[in-house]
Amino acid sequence: METLNRLTCRECGHVYPAGPMQVCEQCFGPLDVDYRYDALAGRVTRETIAAGPPTMWRYRDLLPVDGEPPVGVNVGFTPLVRARNLADALGVRDVWVKNDAVCHPTASFKDRVVAVAVAKAREFGFDTIACASTGNLANSVAAHAAEGRLKSFVFIPADLEPSRVVGTLVYGATLVAVEGTYDEVNRLALEVGDRFPWAFVNANLRPYYAEGAKTYGYEIVEQLGWRAPVHVVVPCAGGSLMTQIWKAMTELARLGLIDAPVRTRVHAAQPAGCGPIVTMIKDDTDVCKPVRPNTIAKSLAMGNPGDGYYAYRTAKASGGTGEHATDDEIVDGMLLLARTEGIFAEAAGGVTVAATRKLVERGVIARDESVVVCITGTGLKTPDALASRLAADLTIRPTLAAFENALAKCWK
Ligand SMILES: *Cc1c(COP(=O)(O)O)cnc(C)c1O
Ligand SMILES: [Zn+2]
Repeated sequence: METLNRLTCRECGHVYPAGPMQVCEQCFGPLDVDYRYDALAGRVTRETIAAGPPTMWRYRDLLPVDGEPPVGVNVGFTPLVRARNLADALGVRDVWVKNDAVCHPTASFKDRVVAVAVAKAREFGFDTIACASTGNLANSVAAHAAEGRLKSFVFIPADLEPSRVVGTLVYGATLVAVEGTYDEVNRLALEVGDRFPWAFVNANLRPYYAEGAKTYGYEIVEQLGWRAPVHVVVPCAGGSLMTQIWKAMTELARLGLIDAPVRTRVHAAQPAGCGPIVTMIKDDTDVCKPVRPNTIAKSLAMGNPGDGYYAYRTAKASGGTGEHATDDEIVDGMLLLARTEGIFAEAAGGVTVAATRKLVERGVIARDESVVVCITGTGLKTPDALASRLAADLTIRPTLAAFENALAKCWK
């Protein structure tokens, strides 16, 4: 609404008119939406936000969408769960789970970024939406394209989980399975984007996509009673969500909605089999070394993270750090969350829980400090991650005697 209706280079400050473009032509820096913060301060208040709808659009004044959102009106405002049982298990007092496993309509935080990107795509006059995806973005782009009566092309690695393939095709998207890693898929998608006049939500619409991710951070603060937590642990793929949670908090401080400066420490969580951002943070270098992913957390499997440099800078600026999780630790994390809080997260959530546990063990998260664990997608899309560890306890014939026999055996 109160955007300056332009894009500004994050690095050199060069200004461009609003439009479908991602990088600065002067320096290749990423472009950001530019707001009139001076006009917004005082006009956007806790009360005006609280009077908005119970969706991400309650923060509409801080999003770059003119008029009513054309799709995704029900996205966001997911529960922030006080996780007392998980807190006990981790040995800390004040643990919260921000649960985008139940985000409408496709059960991951990607619905937030897609809702904003598709709104802009419509404004710019595109009739086709596209993306390169590790899974969740594919589902969300396909769903929102259907809702907005747009065509969609979705590029994924061919080895993606079958549930995510079905969860994209069901909406009528054209799915292109590419025999390669996500990074290869993404490179191809960029070339396709140069050739075809399509809106790629995570390429030429990237500045708008990124704005949608801020709402996850706004909600954490509002749902804590307008308080920024001491720690946030964020699962990272390309590094955008981590960067944008921090941006959201610093914006709220700038607008006087919470105390400045923000003292939240933003920590990165990544799989050991694909953790280039956490490696940067641990080695304290702003140079990202790309890796070839090998992890059960496929939605985080980006070996060459687009926002890796900014995710590293976010950790530095906020006093955060990072942790890797092995495949076994990921499964343990998924089971711990499910068995303490009754929340079935996808493998990315297992990464976050495992990283949080390590940060507690390292003493980075102290026992009396608040921590928000970011759960960004549902386990129901990736049951295979657990299949090897879980099987029926008793398999019996349909008689009471068979049940009693089996029970006696397993209690022995
Ligand atoms: C996309 C995604 C993230 C974060 O991705 P970034 O590229 O770092 O913004 C986290 N969790 C899940 C489940 C995702 O699909
Ligand atoms: Zn620039």
